[in-house]
Amino acid sequence: MLRRRGVDDVADIRDSPPCALADLLLAHDADYVSAFLEGRLDPRIARRIGLRPWTDRIVERTLKILGGSVAATHALLGGGAAVAGNLAGGTHHAFRATGAGYCVFNDIAVAAEVARRDYGIDRVLVVDLDVHQGDGTAAIYENDPSVFTFSVHCAENFPLRKQRSDLDVPVPQGTGDAGYLSALEEVLDPLFADPAPQLVIFQAGVDGLAEDHLGRLQLSRAGLKARNELVYRAARRAGAPTLVLMGGGYSRPIEHTIEALGDVFEQAVAAFATDEY
Ligand SMILES: [Zn+2]
Repeated sequence: MLRRRGVDDVADIRDSPPCALADLLLAHDADYVSAFLEGRLDPRIARRIGLRPWTDRIVERTLKILGGSVAATHALLGGGAAVAGNLAGGTHHAFRATGAGYCVFNDIAVAAEVARRDYGIDRVLVVDLDVHQGDGTAAIYENDPSVFTFSVHCAENFPLRKQRSDLDVPVPQGTGDAGYLSALEEVLDPLFADPAPQLVIFQAGVDGLAEDHLGRLQLSRAGLKARNELVYRAARRAGAPTLVLMGGGYSRPIEHTIEALGDVFEQAVAAFATDEY
């Protein structure tokens, strides 16, 4: 779809390499990592992750999801790209030593740690606008001032037990475009200032769409586009390299999700290709 929309005229679209073990271990517990890779994960954790059917290919799939986010991080910080993304990832429900909610490992944390190890980055801003709270990321970085976690999410939704992000903005179920966008606008800009982040990680889940069956917000496709624009403008103004990750989307039919995700990446490329900010 992105090729059909002409995105590859201005951006490279590449296959994701598998994530290196050393990168995974920057953000995750070694026993949890080896249990997953060796196929001996506690069945209760596998149930919490919820991927079905659980087959051997989950390992390859998971490593490629993480590897895509790491490759995009290198494209930004080592390759000089202003924006890069992963058409997967945004696996924000994974904690250091357990997975949950379709997330095995946390690619946001792995990307932030690769940025720290390889590029000395110590001011990361996570902008998590998936409809579900970024609980895994919040917990991993609860006591780490170098990664600021910001989450706007539906208050009455998974996860039942929320973690504490550096800034949480819960919005009530049924919130539509106007209420959502003003809640976001009220807090967004100061997060990019004094001092500006050296890396922005945007979890761009589109499960706030009205057609989404796990979302419980009433956002339109246009509302989500306005949301994306707010983030890209703020990042552009701050001159911050921006990593865009897919996040959730469960519309019925699924085409609504796919179109809205196409917008996320198409807008990212357009926003950073112009000098108009
Ligand atoms: Zn979600």
